[in-house]
Amino acid sequence: MSLANKVARRFSAEFGEAPAFIALAPGRVNLIGEHTDYNDGFVFPLAIDRAAWIALRPRADRCVRVISLDMAEDQSFDLSDLPRPDAPRWIDYIIGVAWALQRGGYRLTGWEGVLAGDVPIGSGLSSSAALELAAARAFYCVSGFAWDAAQMARVGRAAENEWLGIQTGIMDQMISAAGVAGRALLIDCRSLQTTPAPLPAATSIVILDTGTRRGLVDSAYNERRRQCEAAARRFGIAALRDIDLATFTRRADELEPLIRRRARHVISENERTLQARDAMLAGDAEALGKLMVASHTSLRDDFEVSSPALDAIVNCATADPSCYGARMTGAGFGGCAVALARIEDAEDFARRVGAEYEATTGNKPALYVTHASAGTRSIKADSIASLC
Ligand code: ADP
Ligand code: MG
Repeated sequence: MSLANKVARRFSAEFGEAPAFIALAPGRVNLIGEHTDYNDGFVFPLAIDRAAWIALRPRADRCVRVISLDMAEDQSFDLSDLPRPDAPRWIDYIIGVAWALQRGGYRLTGWEGVLAGDVPIGSGLSSSAALELAAARAFYCVSGFAWDAAQMARVGRAAENEWLGIQTGIMDQMISAAGVAGRALLIDCRSLQTTPAPLPAATSIVILDTGTRRGLVDSAYNERRRQCEAAARRFGIAALRDIDLATFTRRADELEPLIRRRARHVISENERTLQARDAMLAGDAEALGKLMVASHTSLRDDFEVSSPALDAIVNCATADPSCYGARMTGAGFGGCAVALARIEDAEDFARRVGAEYEATTGNKPALYVTHASAGTRSIKADSIASLC
């Protein structure tokens, strides 16, 4: 049963009628441009065919009630008196979105609904951004304000950064909000300008989940951010986005060796990301694949956010004749890699890499071919019937 059916059926069982709306927001995978977003740089993600779904109807009062099928919980809150989070729970992401919207002057109506998702949680495909944007869309459905993808991405990010206290860049929310079917999106994380680009013909995107998760991600992430900020300060620029590779190479001695390597990753990754746009526009899968491999090497050696499991799965993928290139994706230390593979062989490629990786490491991976999907959207009651 599709997730649309699942949330709609549960909604009907719970509330005695069909939902008025179904809102959904996808997870994402980043093709290239890693750890560049918080340096005001470029990223190149695509929205995937896995999403958070909410079936809902408006309420006459200012209450929001959500039944989470994945967490098997029923939670409510009052829009006039938002409860502050201590240890973030799933409902706090929705409360945070309400907080950020209300802070932005949006007048919100209450709603009730059923939530379920198939973006794996904590694997680097951004189930949290999917939840935030699905929640923002739910508020949009019942409150009747104008939908602006970049604005809603900022709302999602504010919920995560300021309400929950979890530091993230803008990439996850922006691609979930603004994804385009069949396209990857070059995002300028300073201006939030997006440029869709088609994936090279006859290629597939394969997600390679190592099956490993590392707890130290948050502290390492914050440390990398500080190191990047230190490098920018040293160069007297607002962000590492503002220096090109040639100038950096000339001035590299001004930085101590560790900070220099961190900065070199970000600055070279920005250039690779722009080159990836050229490769995609030229339909050049070979060139795109090589840039992905160079990105992984830089993340592994200069930024030091890879892991033995990520290196192993990337090595298994790139050794396969059907692979153009592969790299770790997301914050790192565990979670997923992404590969560009020949379309005619993508499913077999995924099977071969999974078997090889499992034999080498003993870890249980999950591999899936994915498709670039549209961003956050919703369906009204009259079209829901066709889904159920
Ligand atoms: P990710 O890398 O997947 O974004 P995070 O740790 O940032 O991992 O966010 C995961 C959190 O988001 C979960 O612990 C949960 O609180 C919330 N979440 C994500 N998807 C769902 C869902 N389908 N239902 C309920 N909560 C969800
Ligand atoms: Mg997240």
